[in-house]
Amino acid sequence: MSTNVLCGLEPQSVFSYFEQLTRIPRGSGNEKAVSDYIIAYAEQHGYRWERDEANNVKLYAPATSGYENRKSIVLQAHLDMVCAKDPDVAFDFKTQPIDIYVEDGFVKAHGTTLGADDGAGVAMILALLDDRTLPHPPVQAIFTTGEEILFVGAEAMDAHWLDGDYYIGLDYSNNKKILVSAAGVSVLQCTLTLERAPVPVGWTAFDVTVSGMQGGHSGNTIHMDRGNAVKVMEEILAGLPAGLASLADISAGTLINIIPAHAEAVVVCPPEHADTVRTALDARIALLKEVYRHTEPQLTITVSQRSAGDGMTVLTPACAEKLLRFVRLCYVGAWRMADDTYSRAECSANPAILRLEQTEAKFTLSARSNSEYLHDQIIAHQSELAALCGWKAELESRAGAWEYNAASQLLPQVIPIFREVTGREPEIAQIHAGVEGGVFDTKAREIGRRLDMVNLGVMNYDVHTPRERMEIDSVKPLYEMLRQILMTVE
Ligand SMILES: [Zn+2]
Repeated sequence: MSTNVLCGLEPQSVFSYFEQLTRIPRGSGNEKAVSDYIIAYAEQHGYRWERDEANNVKLYAPATSGYENRKSIVLQAHLDMVCAKDPDVAFDFKTQPIDIYVEDGFVKAHGTTLGADDGAGVAMILALLDDRTLPHPPVQAIFTTGEEILFVGAEAMDAHWLDGDYYIGLDYSNNKKILVSAAGVSVLQCTLTLERAPVPVGWTAFDVTVSGMQGGHSGNTIHMDRGNAVKVMEEILAGLPAGLASLADISAGTLINIIPAHAEAVVVCPPEHADTVRTALDARIALLKEVYRHTEPQLTITVSQRSAGDGMTVLTPACAEKLLRFVRLCYVGAWRMADDTYSRAECSANPAILRLEQTEAKFTLSARSNSEYLHDQIIAHQSELAALCGWKAELESRAGAWEYNAASQLLPQVIPIFREVTGREPEIAQIHAGVEGGVFDTKAREIGRRLDMVNLGVMNYDVHTPRERMEIDSVKPLYEMLRQILMTVE
């Protein structure tokens, strides 16, 4: 393990703190040591600090002379990192330092994640508050834990920590954009009591499988018109001849934040109808392959035939219809597109996971929204529809959005600084995925505040993978931007 690998890179102070952080094991849930490190830094620098039970740390750097009456600025980053490694690499994230090196203009790690997400943000803050020549207003630094495991640190944080004027989040891996909004996400658990009947001996069963679909992230790709395997399976079953076949099982999806790409169903019928049922399924499959030829060119639907096993049961016709009616009618995809650009959804729905147990069907629907109003609308739509179809709907969780703040006084001051430092026009970005900013904005709303916040970052590639790398040339401009922001923002 070599030391001072990043020696000589500019700004030296940022790279030096970054390298120190790589030596502290700090996988999500294991942040005590790195929070101790931040506190030691605060003590050394004479900054007041607080730490909560989740190991979140807040530092207070008083204004330099003449800046006492300026608005306060909160710098924010997360202490934890994703622990991912190549399968052939022996590495213990609990004890070993990250083995970093420099290559082709990047800081990289041998066989593991680098932790520039969000070590870059943490190092940036430590370097800024270490620079005694930098005039600045009252600055607070908030270091959170468990960002990579559903924002558990931010969620546990006391809302009253959010008492600053301007917020600059540094958990962003893109140096060409200024992030101004992120989505909230909710999970609706729907259940239906199943009525089953035994399958007579000698009946025929068909196993139907849907695969080959693209799936994708339910935030970033939801507006792309990709197929949803739950819906595709329902479309197949809707082609069965009425009264000739019964549904024994249906399942699809794995995770709430993934568009389901795979589904399975079992259909049974008396042997004398097997040929008719098979023909109907084949015709329906040919039709759907045609319907999805552009959006899901790799869509594969297979049917295999066998005899129904002993003890098999099917849903009663009324129950199967109740089940499939809600799958058919529930909303899927972009509910509304963002009106600034049409490259993302503003609000969307992802019917994500469907499973049948012996007595109950469970259907998990997730929704996302950058607008709290639209989020409530989509949740109400899916819940009321579930009830109309005879299902029970329960809101399992609802995380709020970081809503775009059209009245921001910070953004109009950051844009010219970005332009001046980088020589480029920033892209003002809103994403349909979640960031900690959503947790902060939600907490702030709860105590009657509205956050004025932007996120900025260095350029990191392939984050959360062993190929994670930080572009060296993107570090200095961000540092310079933040210096300018601290010196000039009013
Ligand atoms: Zn991050």
